[in-house]
Amino acid sequence: MQLEIPRKLSSLVEQAHLVATEVFRPISRKYDRAEHEYPIELDMLASVMDGMNEGDSSGGAGAAQLKQERAIKGAGVRNGSNMATVLGLTELCWGDVGLALTIPRQGLGNAAIAAVATEEQRHRFKGRWAAMAITEPAAGSDSANIRTTAVRDGDHYILNGEKIFITAGGRADVIVVWATLDPALGRAAIKSFIVEKGTPGMHLVRLDHKLGIRASDTATIMFTDCRVAKENLLGNPDIDAKQGFGGVMQTFDNTRPVVAAMALGVGRASLERTRELLRQRGILSGYERSLFGSTAAEAELYRMEAELESARLLTIKAAWLADNGIPNSKEASMAKAKAGRAANFITLRCLQLCAASGVTETELLEKWARDSKILDIFEGTQQIQLLIIARRLLGKSSQELR
Ligand SMILES: Cc1cc2nc3c(=O)[nH]c(=O)nc-3n(C[C@H](O)[C@H](O)[C@H](O)COP(=O)(O)OP(=O)(O)OC[C@H]3O[C@@H](n4cnc5c(N)ncnc54)[C@H](O)[C@@H]3O)c2cc1C
Repeated sequence: MQLEIPRKLSSLVEQAHLVATEVFRPISRKYDRAEHEYPIELDMLASVMDGMNEGDSSGGAGAAQLKQERAIKGAGVRNGSNMATVLGLTELCWGDVGLALTIPRQGLGNAAIAAVATEEQRHRFKGRWAAMAITEPAAGSDSANIRTTAVRDGDHYILNGEKIFITAGGRADVIVVWATLDPALGRAAIKSFIVEKGTPGMHLVRLDHKLGIRASDTATIMFTDCRVAKENLLGNPDIDAKQGFGGVMQTFDNTRPVVAAMALGVGRASLERTRELLRQRGILSGYERSLFGSTAAEAELYRMEAELESARLLTIKAAWLADNGIPNSKEASMAKAKAGRAANFITLRCLQLCAASGVTETELLEKWARDSKILDIFEGTQQIQLLIIARRLLGKSSQELR
């Protein structure tokens, strides 16, 4: 395993950093204050990203390109879409997590389509912005408990249920909705359906006000007798009790390292700015002295750097496994658990070290601390990641260890 940024991806990292510096940072505070206002500056960026992905033979970067590769002979040689997305999003989120989550056509639903759609569906929904609707009022961490139903009626399925906390739910072109074909059959009966915005029976109830990532909209959507063509069921319509969640869960193996990457970005942003502010006050962190000879503030910075570096290594390992077709559920959860916790700790601790500058709006430090919190919650909370890791290490099923 190569621990350096692969040479073929270094220009992508540079471009993403440039976008973070020149596009995101200048409008970061504006859209934190103007919650629910669409950042029109991102339209141009989305077109540039589409163009970059079209011309990229390695599979490109971004949620729409994420895929679990098949194992290849001599595994360990490939850096593909997972690595590219992880590295790119780290940089973009160094700029702004909320804006990164709002780039058109790079939604969580796009990752689901990339992971489980048939070739025909991939072609049909190419270029559409897709959000993902799993969570319900009575089903958050326990996604096997979802109550939204999909009942077959001729050439259609009829969807009924309420979905909450849908990132980009108000802005996306289509929503990937998780629904059960038969609540009595448990998780095997849960399928995902692509619902076009404006389909009769689909109603945007509200957009939430949030602690952080305010540039990203979070929607509640009701489905009442919402009729969806049977061809919009993603993947295999059969209920295979052996498969369990099967394909849909695979999405998380690709997206959890991506959320970890977001945490790396915002954590690094806080650390870098804190180092600059402390340097202006004469607190230097030049690594000249040993940990014991350093000031308390210096020692804290070094410890936080070590936390971030260990999270980074876990994250690129999880992405590298996905790119090489090696199962990565445990590593994806490890990366997200470590990076989410590290970013929460670092962003808050940096704020403390900078004291007044940490909490005022003249700096982005307080915003980064707010933005980072969600990264330890969505795509599975800290506790859920630890549970998955424990299951994998102990060889227990989700029934045996809950
Ligand atoms: C800003 C934002 C954006 C989101 N975007 C999306 C999206 O795009 N699509 C989507 O479908 N969802 C989305 N979500 C929902 C998110 O994934 C859920 O909030 C998350 O899965 C947790 O569910 P919950 O909030 O219902 O908490 P709960 O599941 O009720 O958990 C409450 C607490 O109990 C803990 N807990 C639960 N079960 C266990 C257990 N077995 N063992 C130990 N501890 C446990 C949890 O860790 C948590 O601390 C988003 C949420 C937010 C806030």
